[in-house]
Amino acid sequence: MNGNTKIGNSISPLPSTMLAMVMDVPGQPLVAKAIPLPLPAAKQVLVKIIACGVCRTDLHIMDSELGQPKLPLIPGHEIIGIVVQLGAATQKLKIGDLVGIAWLGFACGHCEYCLREHENLCENALFTGYTIDGGYAEYTVAFEDFCFSLPEIYGNPSAAPLLCAGLIGYRSYTMISKNTQRLGIYGFGAAAHILTQLALKQGKEIYAFTRDGDLTSQAFAKKMGAIWAGDSSQPSPEVLDSAIIFAPAGSLIPKALKDIDKGGTVVCGGIHMSDIPSFPYEILWGERIIRSVANLTRKDGHEFLKVAASIPVKTETRLFPLLEANEALAALRNGTVKGAIVLVM
Ligand SMILES: [Zn+2]
Ligand SMILES: [Zn+2]
Repeated sequence: MNGNTKIGNSISPLPSTMLAMVMDVPGQPLVAKAIPLPLPAAKQVLVKIIACGVCRTDLHIMDSELGQPKLPLIPGHEIIGIVVQLGAATQKLKIGDLVGIAWLGFACGHCEYCLREHENLCENALFTGYTIDGGYAEYTVAFEDFCFSLPEIYGNPSAAPLLCAGLIGYRSYTMISKNTQRLGIYGFGAAAHILTQLALKQGKEIYAFTRDGDLTSQAFAKKMGAIWAGDSSQPSPEVLDSAIIFAPAGSLIPKALKDIDKGGTVVCGGIHMSDIPSFPYEILWGERIIRSVANLTRKDGHEFLKVAASIPVKTETRLFPLLEANEALAALRNGTVKGAIVLVM
């Protein structure tokens, strides 16, 4: 028991070590290690992880497309787990609570962005599985204030993708133009299949664009309720009102601009994209908007998880054991899995 932990506020006995998949060096496969169990700081909790989603951002970190990660690093930011130990200054959570942990691991609350209710842009933010350790492990610590309480229906691995694919998809969706009826989605993976359920519930039509010739993803999009699915190089069969790009390909921005109507918005939902080719001003003209979506706020999380539970959103997942994290990442990279990939502990 460490000095920061309330006596009696842990499930005992806890092991002294845990299994984790660790990135020692970007560009190298993750390494399985037995490492000491992390201890919660005063405002943190220790969480026994049930499952952690595998996200494209994890690949961007491992490929050095996102710089300066903590090293060595335990990746993973779509965590579902149970609180098993409380830090000394925790106030809300209890032992046994089911929680979700997402990308925004901490925001300072006092920088100019936090004060403007843009904690997603916080100057002093910490990001789970990037600048602090994440969920490719049996346990993790997390700041109590940044844990989401989850309803019991989400106490299983299929809920993990809600914590990033779901949340970022939702934040992207809140950025599309008002009165959007026809929505284009470019890249039909984890985020798209969750968002489609929400958008259909709200009466929107989904046009799904995938890698050229990816008939499996196109069939998946139609199964999820898309009114049309086809190759990204094809023009949209209808003029769209807005577009959300989840695929990390900058060339999709001018493509989506050509597909949308005047006043429409192209939302870039990913954290990294390849370079955007130059394009004629004419396709932006007409008050079309291009915008990025950065991280998430806790408000997004609370709103989305409430809406998701009311539908209820279901995820298509392929589960991998924790020790097969490298295989799971390869499957994501190759696009061989439809829906979301989740590691189970
Ligand atoms: Zn993610
Ligand atoms: Zn801040």
